[in-house]
Amino acid sequence: MLVYVLNKHGRPLMPCQPRKARLLLKAGKAKVVKRTPFTIQLIYGSSGYVQPVSLGVDAGSKAIGLSVTTEKQVLFEAEVQLRTDIVDLLSTRREFRRARRNRKTQYRQARFLNRKKPDGWLAPSVENKIQAHLKAVRWVHQILPVSKAVVEVAQFDIQRIKDPDIQGKQYQQGDQLGFWNVREYVLWRDDHTCQHCHGKSKDPRLNVHHIESRKIGGDAPSNLLALCETCHDLYHKGEITLKVKQGNSFRDAAFMGIMRWMFYNRLKMQYPNVGLTYGYLTKNTRIRSGLEKTHSVDARCISGNPKALSGNSMYLIKQVRGQNRQLHKATIRKGGFRQKSKAPKYVRGFKLFDKVCFAGRECFVFGRRSSGYFDLRLLDGTRVHASASVKKLRLLERAKTLLVERRTGDFLPHLKKGVSIA
Ligand SMILES: [Zn+2]
Repeated sequence: MLVYVLNKHGRPLMPCQPRKARLLLKAGKAKVVKRTPFTIQLIYGSSGYVQPVSLGVDAGSKAIGLSVTTEKQVLFEAEVQLRTDIVDLLSTRREFRRARRNRKTQYRQARFLNRKKPDGWLAPSVENKIQAHLKAVRWVHQILPVSKAVVEVAQFDIQRIKDPDIQGKQYQQGDQLGFWNVREYVLWRDDHTCQHCHGKSKDPRLNVHHIESRKIGGDAPSNLLALCETCHDLYHKGEITLKVKQGNSFRDAAFMGIMRWMFYNRLKMQYPNVGLTYGYLTKNTRIRSGLEKTHSVDARCISGNPKALSGNSMYLIKQVRGQNRQLHKATIRKGGFRQKSKAPKYVRGFKLFDKVCFAGRECFVFGRRSSGYFDLRLLDGTRVHASASVKKLRLLERAKTLLVERRTGDFLPHLKKGVSIA
């Protein structure tokens, strides 16, 4: 585990070992500013030596991978789980509003085509995801001196397939990479399904088959076809013939990854040094380095330092809603009473998603009952206690919209009893 360090003015420095942090704290030269991830701030001036630090972002619709690396070491790695409830919540709200029109209310003139969406409008579910990505990046910039950020914008580079002569730094790493790009494109074009059996063989392993041999037909998408390994083997044994429909059109790749492109463009406006990469490059790097596939490992490959030693600085971050705007339950109870939708914000001083200490374990409040017995869980949903007495809880951190849990390491300095850093 590493301890993150800020200078006197709150600017991040290189992280340090827990031992050093403990000595600084003991000598009164630093103070604790954040509990998770553990961050200290120096009280006396230190400009500090800062190395080149690269942040890789594996953008996604359900989870973000974050990895901050130097050439040799992983400084911070996290998987951010995003909210997926936005569409559902907005649909519910729409229904409520429709229902309200039919109730006996004051007459209002019907609104008709009087609303316009501002330029650059995106669906709220997409907008929320972009904001969450930006927030996560901002959050990392607060604890680490990131000098460069790299974002994976798409699985493949459509421009490069259309015009293989495009030159660029990353394209000079040998011709093999060009095939990886086309390969990802073909898999996407063929919907990641075998074009012979269309999934009937139940074989999840997909190959990209050369219709004419590579020598004759080359690596153009029109000469390639996604086949499952079973069908591919059968074909080369001569046991099946392929019905191939030849086509040379590019399916419109513009809508692919609107979210990721928007995120990249907005990030570029906010930070000076932002680069982009493609999924096929990430995949190639990951497989060549013999790493397993997770969001944070992908992010490490994206950051450009796949060989960086992963310490134990792994975190899980979960995005949650800060408010519950629904005041009442939708169905009115017998007798015309409206049932309130939520418990009071604080029950015995605790809020939903507060981080607490229970029986020496850190966990989150997932449910509160006015009886004073709470449902405690870890961020991945693992139940710590279904009905823990409020008397045995100690508040560690107040709930925020990004909840952070450390997955590895066990260093935590002894804080004075009752002291918590919110
Ligand atoms: Zn097949």
